[in-house]
Amino acid sequence: MRAALFAREPLCTECSKHGRVTLATERDHIKPLAEGGADDDSNIQGLCHSCHESKSHAEALRGRHRARR
Ligand SMILES: [Zn+2]
Repeated sequence: MRAALFAREPLCTECSKHGRVTLATERDHIKPLAEGGADDDSNIQGLCHSCHESKSHAEALRGRHRARR
C-alpha cells in the first residue's frame, strides 16, 4: 500500500501546489480520520516530512483529537 502510493505519486502534494518539487516521505490522510475522513486511497496523499508536520500541527490545533508531537 505504501509502496503503491509512492509509485503513483512520488512527490509531496503540498509542495507541488507551491511549485516546489519535493519527494514525499510521509503518507497523509487528506481529510483526517478524526474529522470523518475515509481510510482509503481516495483520501491518501504523499507529503514530505515538513509539510506533514505542519499539517498535523494545524489539525491538532483544530481538533485536539490528535496528540501533539
Ligand atoms: Zn512538502
